[in-house]
Amino acid sequence: MATYEYRCRQDGSFDVTLPIGTAGPSTRCPRCGVPAGRVFAAPRLGRMPAALHAAIDRAERTAEQPDVVRHVPGDRPARRSSNPAHARLPRW
Ligand SMILES: [Zn+2]
Repeated sequence: MATYEYRCRQDGSFDVTLPIGTAGPSTRCPRCGVPAGRVFAAPRLGRMPAALHAAIDRAERTAEQPDVVRHVPGDRPARRSSNPAHARLPRW
């Protein structure tokens, strides 16, 4: 048995254990079911954490066509000052 690494463009890397020589060029992602390509690399070389792979894939996917942002992350309503002098300041 050997462990083969595949990488889903959405979910990142995952490993599949198969008999030696039986790994195909792609397999279904266990999370989303989309075909994931095999990562050809020397064993235990060039491995990155799955979260880092997912972040890189997400950055590559949105490089040409950014995701639509409907709100600013962590956006909160502006705090109102209790100082009456601040009410006369211009609003932007
Ligand atoms: Zn997936």
